[in-house]
Formats: sequence, C-alpha cells, structure tokens
Amino acid sequence: MSGPERITPRDDLKALEGYHSPQLDVSVRLNTNESPFAPPAGFVDAWLAELGAAQLHRYPDRAARALRSAIGESIGQAPVRVFCANGSNEVLQTLLLTYGGVGRRAAIFEPTYALHAHIATITGTEVVVGERRADFSIDPDGARALVDEQQPAIAFVCSPNNPTGTVEPAATIEALLDADHRCLVVVDEAYGEFAPWSALELVRDERALVVVRTYSKVWSMAALRLGFAVAPSWVVEELEKVVLPYHLASATQIAGRLALELADEMDGRVQRLVAERERVATELAQVDGVTVFPSGANFLLFSPAGDGHERWQQMVDQGVLVRDFSRWPRLDGCLRVTIGTPAENDAFVAALRNSLQEVAV
Ligand code: PMP
Repeated sequence: MSGPERITPRDDLKALEGYHSPQLDVSVRLNTNESPFAPPAGFVDAWLAELGAAQLHRYPDRAARALRSAIGESIGQAPVRVFCANGSNEVLQTLLLTYGGVGRRAAIFEPTYALHAHIATITGTEVVVGERRADFSIDPDGARALVDEQQPAIAFVCSPNNPTGTVEPAATIEALLDADHRCLVVVDEAYGEFAPWSALELVRDERALVVVRTYSKVWSMAALRLGFAVAPSWVVEELEKVVLPYHLASATQIAGRLALELADEMDGRVQRLVAERERVATELAQVDGVTVFPSGANFLLFSPAGDGHERWQQMVDQGVLVRDFSRWPRLDGCLRVTIGTPAENDAFVAALRNSLQEVAV
C-alpha cells in the first residue's frame, strides 16, 4: 500500500455494514416511510422569520426548554420527562450510550428496525435476539422469559414495528416491565401516530419505560432531524449528561416548536394516510399471488408471487421505488411500500400488477 498505513477500526466493528436503503432517482419514491406532504403553507416562512431573529452567533439553548415544554404540553407530560435529539436515531444512540455499552446487553425482537441492533453494536452493547411469532407479534411470555434469562439492560419493542407494521398490545409492554429482571423497556413509536394506541400514556417516573417518537414521518420534517423520548425524569437526567452539549441546533428547536401549532392539520393528514393505507391494503389483497400483512403504520409489508427482488427491480424499471426486504432473514420474498399520495399509491399498485403479469406469462 502506498501512502500512510491504514489504521483499522475497533475489532468488534469489523463485521459492521453501513445502512442499506438505496436512494434511486425515480419518480415515485415509496421506500423510506416519510410523509408524502411538504410542511403546511406558512410553516417555512414562520420558521425562517424566527430563525432570522435568533442569535446565531450564540450556542443554542442546551436544555431545549421551549421545545421540551411545547412537546410535553402536547402529550400531557412534564418537560422533565422529555428528551430531544437529532432524529429518533440519536435518541436511540443516546439511550444505548447511557444504558448499554461493553458488558451490557440489549434485547430486540426480530424481524425489526435494523438500527436497534446496529447502534447497539456500535456502542459495544451485546445484542440478544427474541423471535417474533408467525404473525410478527411478540409473545409476551416468551419476551419476559428472554429478559429474565439474558438480563439485558434495555429491551427494544418497535410498535408499530418496522418493517412489518405490527402493533403490539399494552400486555406485551406490561409483561416486559413485570419481568423479574429490571431493564429499560424502550418502545420505538416512530410510527405511533398511525396506530390505534400509544404507550405514551404509560410513561411515569415509577416505571422503567421510555417511548421514542420522531418528527420525520407525520410532521414532514425528515430533513430537519428531530426526535424525542418520553421517559422518567431520572432517565432524562442521565441522557442529558451523555449527549454532546449543544447537539440540537436552534433551527431544529424552533422548527419543532412551531410544527406543534399545526397539530390539527397534521391529525387530518394522519387520517388521510390511514384511509389510504386501508385502501391500498384492500387492493393488494385482491391481487392474485400477493399476501399483505396488517399494519398500524404508514407503510405495508407484502409478499408478491415469484422472486421478490425481481418484482422490486421490475417496479424500479417502471419508476416506482419500494424497499426490498426479500433477502432479509425472516422476511423471505417481502417488500415494503410507504403510503404516499393517492396518485403515487395508484402508480405503485399498477407497477406491481404489471410485474406480476410478467411472472404469469
Ligand atoms: N425508528 C424507526 C422504527 C424508524 O423506522 C426510523 C426511521 N426509519 C427511526 C426510528 C429513525 O427516524 P429518525 O432518526 O428520522 O427520527
């Protein structure tokens, strides 16, 4: 090798792969579960006006007080139970840096959001895997037994689960909280607004329960990177010690607070996306050779006849990008489609039907 000798990363990171979600240049992008709608009219102007008046030569409010108060008020929780970060991924990372680490474990229930295991590994946390049932739900007794046996510091429950869409009942969360071994139960509700119930109301200081939410989906702010945890105040205190000082830019703090003023409009968007989800699910169920799984999120997991990856490629060739899970363990042949605008959803169903006709020929 010419030039300086390469320095190798940590031994335990050798097998690590980057995050795989190809961003192809197609007209219909239904692969990353964002909102299909831009922020409502007036939002960007209001945001820029406040940003213009902000003291940009000073560091942002380290405690994000105004934002945490606004979020707390919107969900009926005290601001001391709210922790904000750059997307819910940074919230998850901070939880793992604080409560995971070398010599500690995190439990996950597969198949689930890949970043739980990925960030755990990066923080040196050992991952222990529980299996979901055939319908992708978690068996509460099995989950509790796993926690008692493996003694993780954190147990992750993704609900609605990405990529399956499965909504866990409260009984699963209660079972984990009731395990003899005490761990932090982290419910990742990145898609919580689309589901019939939320664990937010279960959070209180006496319980080792954390609920994680994001502005990347319903709130149309994926580009601004904002997520938050609702957690006992003793957890929030620890997270604040671990996260980098001034990590949350003023631009993000202002945007998050202003967005909450649009709650009614956002509720309307959620209703429309949920109605579209049900329409698309019904249409998919009527297509020969397609199995579609129940979802409480803004996406649907489905399995088309034939080779899943080929179906994915044929849809890409028609300008429709969905997420390819067909080669993933436990998701053999499955693809995931984000619910978009009615026109995008129609384009997706048409592209899928075309690709299936090619199989039939
Ligand atoms: N959790 C889940 C389950 C997700 O699907 C995502 C986004 N794909 C995230 C967390 C992270 O979202 P963000 O960092 O944009 O808030």
